[in-house]
Amino acid sequence: MFFSFKAVMKKYLRLILEILLGVCFIAAATLAYMNYSAKKHLTTEVSELTEQLGEVKEAMEKMQEAEPADGEASAETNTSAQELDALKAAFSNGVVLQDMELLYKAQKALSPERQVGMASVRLLTKGPQDEGTIAAFQKALEMAEWSNRLQTVCAAQNALAAAGQKVTVLSDCKKSPEKPESGGKDNPAKKDGKAHDVQWGYEGDNGPEHWGNNFPVCGTGKKQSPLNIIGPFEKSKDVLSVDYKEGPLKILNNGHTIQVNVEPGSTLTINKETFDLLQFHFHRPSEEQVDGKNSAMVAHFVHKSKDGKLAVIGVLLNEGKDNAGIKTLWANLPPKEGTEYLPEKVSFNPSSMLPKELGFYNYEGSLTTPPCTEGVQFYILKKPVDISKDQVGKFPFKLNARPVQNLNGRKISAGG
Ligand SMILES: [Zn+2]
Repeated sequence: MFFSFKAVMKKYLRLILEILLGVCFIAAATLAYMNYSAKKHLTTEVSELTEQLGEVKEAMEKMQEAEPADGEASAETNTSAQELDALKAAFSNGVVLQDMELLYKAQKALSPERQVGMASVRLLTKGPQDEGTIAAFQKALEMAEWSNRLQTVCAAQNALAAAGQKVTVLSDCKKSPEKPESGGKDNPAKKDGKAHDVQWGYEGDNGPEHWGNNFPVCGTGKKQSPLNIIGPFEKSKDVLSVDYKEGPLKILNNGHTIQVNVEPGSTLTINKETFDLLQFHFHRPSEEQVDGKNSAMVAHFVHKSKDGKLAVIGVLLNEGKDNAGIKTLWANLPPKEGTEYLPEKVSFNPSSMLPKELGFYNYEGSLTTPPCTEGVQFYILKKPVDISKDQVGKFPFKLNARPVQNLNGRKISAGG
């Protein structure tokens, strides 16, 4: 076959763009809804998305059938019908997907825009039951604040522009939030004008006070984390029980923290609801304060229930004795950023990081990193554990803690 992505793109650019725009629009709405409700399983959502995709296909067919207004337009219609067939073929035999994957392969992480573009092309090619399609949408969901529809429309355009094609980008997309609008303060590293990953960090122009520019919820949310934990407390009746299992150590430096990914099987039960432990990671200093004071560090254990609810257990790490768990982790830090590292023959039990007692402070909050999604239950354990000064010093991030956020009338409860 002679279909290369570039050739297909050039010829059918407008059509591809229209299709992707349609798909991305639907994806945006769906993802925004998922982000908001976090109540349904992703597979269902992707299936629904595909049902709606039928509308896009219908629109395509209508275009094909469209009556020419006069004789002259007839030839044009014919050509576009042929183009459409070729385009459908390119999607269905996976050529577009393959080419796009090749183009992006060299990059260790895609921007949320490209990610959703990829997911859309995958959906068109492989259908909604394909694991890769679901994973691609899942990833896009985790990466960005999709409640901003414009951003997603621009996503389709940027996905194409990123493939090296000259695309007329909507003027609204040019005012991309990735580029600060305040004139003259251009970051020299971002002058290329290409689509790129949305940067965020803990200091300077990328610091927490600017996250809201790219991730609206970080700026406008009313239930944000972390908090300063200070009484009076309500009494919580929640009962926590933890059943973490030993498994092979999988450790990642994602550029913002050190994260340990956990194999399925470790669970947290809150009352009668089961949450799977997905990963745990660290912040220095602790993000939460107790009576206005930070600990040296904190470990966040991130759990998810079957219907997508998130619960985080926070273990405060105070300066003191050596921590045996930390010793194992720091001895196996990943050699490079962005790739999960599996040291040979090292296993780890996350429960070695927990104190004996599970007394807690509980509040409803958010992810403490962009996109700052809300609806996360936090259980900060009352009892801290030790970490030595030397061990704190060996954590590769000097500062990776979001400052405490406004309570906005929320109640903190205590229990356990
Ligand atoms: Zn965290």
